Amino acid sequence: MHPPHTCDNRTVQGSELSVLEQICREIAAASQPFRRLEVSRDQLQQLFKDNPFKLRLIQEKVAGPTATVYGCGMLVDLCRGPHLRHTGQIGGLKLLTNSASLWRSSGAPEILQRVSGISFPTAELLRDWETQKEEALLRDHRRIGKEQELFFFHELSPGSCFFLPRGTRVYNALVAFIRAEYARRGFSEVRTPTLFSTKLWQLSGHWEHYKEDMFTLQPPGTNRAASAQSGHSAGPPVDTLALKPMNCPAHCLMFAHRPRSWRELPVRLADFGVLHRAEASGSLGGLTRLWRFQQDDAHIFCAPDQLEAEIQGCLDFLRSVYQVLGFSFRLALSTRPSGFLGEPSLWEQAEQILQRALEEFGEPWDLNPGDGAFYGPKIDVRLHDALGRPHQCGTIQLDFQLPLRFGLQYKGQAGAPERPVLIHRAVLGSVERLLGVLAESCGGRWPLWLSPFQVVVIPVGPEQEVYARQVQQSLQAAGLAGDLDADCGMTLSRRVRRAQLTHYNFQFVVGQKEQSKRTVNIRTRDNRRLGERDLTEAVQRLLELQNTRVPNAEDLF
Ligand SMILES: [Zn+2]
Repeated sequence: MHPPHTCDNRTVQGSELSVLEQICREIAAASQPFRRLEVSRDQLQQLFKDNPFKLRLIQEKVAGPTATVYGCGMLVDLCRGPHLRHTGQIGGLKLLTNSASLWRSSGAPEILQRVSGISFPTAELLRDWETQKEEALLRDHRRIGKEQELFFFHELSPGSCFFLPRGTRVYNALVAFIRAEYARRGFSEVRTPTLFSTKLWQLSGHWEHYKEDMFTLQPPGTNRAASAQSGHSAGPPVDTLALKPMNCPAHCLMFAHRPRSWRELPVRLADFGVLHRAEASGSLGGLTRLWRFQQDDAHIFCAPDQLEAEIQGCLDFLRSVYQVLGFSFRLALSTRPSGFLGEPSLWEQAEQILQRALEEFGEPWDLNPGDGAFYGPKIDVRLHDALGRPHQCGTIQLDFQLPLRFGLQYKGQAGAPERPVLIHRAVLGSVERLLGVLAESCGGRWPLWLSPFQVVVIPVGPEQEVYARQVQQSLQAAGLAGDLDADCGMTLSRRVRRAQLTHYNFQFVVGQKEQSKRTVNIRTRDNRRLGERDLTEAVQRLLELQNTRVPNAEDLF
């Protein structure tokens, strides 16, 4: 609830929220009924004649001859409803924020006071909600990103993330995971440009449907052309360029780059290319919504009779990645929407193929009739993180339109040209966003294979510092994240404790004995003592656990 009101020049202060909350509680306790009234425009004008803000609202929002108002105690307000029957149904109430918002209208902008709050049927439900909120805040990826020095944002590059060395480590581990899957599953990675002529986006249809979300720019020389009176020739007209919001058109150009034969199909092109999407700046927040991000994007060009096997391959890809990440997921088939393009028979056939693939796959799935894209049916994937929160990440979409628009074809078995089918698919979706989801899901306690805090080496005293550095070097040379805590001004037990609070998966303690035998004394972040191990063997074991991407390396060591 956040009814805005004008308060002349008075501003609601944060310190006043508790007073307002108390007033609201008293009103709730009085069980005041809400009365619904349908009134004519004339009556509306009369009711709100002293409130210029409401009068304007009536003028702009009330289209019909009548509107509803709700009355409660002294208050009468324009509202569509519905409302509670009486204020006594509010058992728990909390005011959350106060803010001034600008009312833009025909006249000069005015400042309105907005107080927002939340209410529940019982005080218990309010307490549950507060607990959940605290937990979520504790796990907020922006907080984790700051505390663990993973990434930051800067006003000088809005909507884009700076990944620090530790964050880049996590990012690269995710990408390496997907690359390993690509190798197993017959995907070929490619790199494509970021800047394209808007002619490409016209051809792909993005200019028509997606223009508002794209960043466009003029190439250098365009200004020169404008000031060409000095005798310079303006040259050929220069295209406006746009930063790519997706990779598909580039991959279509790649497919069309030379003649293709049925023998090559399916062609599976994967691209971690940088994408830019002009989200409204108000909706940007952390890694969830960005202007600049990368996806584990791939496009499969296949013959119609390969479609079912390819879809099954995509579904299997999803399952094995989400399993490693510790996510459960739910699939939904979205079918032909009202404004679809293409042949109805083609759609029907494709939907049947998707349905068969889903049934074969064996996981439960839902049907979302009419929810497909205008260019083809799709399988939406909703994953659930460790906190049970849903996220929309992966997708599998069929596309009949792009191959048509780009005139894609291959030489069929009979020698005649045929049109390939295009599948868009992503498993992680935005790598940035998924990294945020993972940070919150594990609460900063990263599994070894993703962890930017794999091992810290702790010398017992200054005499072991040189050996400790050698241990750190062995870890780093093997590609592991090894830090050193040689701050011998602090007791050993406090340094171990500090390492565990930082969530280092392992602590390697080295004293006199370890130095002489070239061993390390290992503890886990749960303070389990694994005892003395040979250094080379310990590094080998860590590599094995990292490369198999187990979620519980500390238990398995
Ligand atoms: Zn695509």
